Amino acid sequence: MPATSKCPECDGNVSVGADAVKGEIVSCPDCGAELEVTATAPLALALAPEAEEDWGE
Ligand SMILES: [Zn+2]
Repeated sequence: MPATSKCPECDGNVSVGADAVKGEIVSCPDCGAELEVTATAPLALALAPEAEEDWGE
């Protein structure tokens, strides 16, 4: 069954598939924030770090 948790950014409801795994990145449908699944039972979400690659030069 799909699981639902709150977006830490906008407090909107975010649902993930039943096969979601820890470490999976999902997008908030309300604010578009990238969220990392930090736990699945119960579902917990955290803001995913921005995958910026503009460092190192
Ligand atoms: Zn959000």
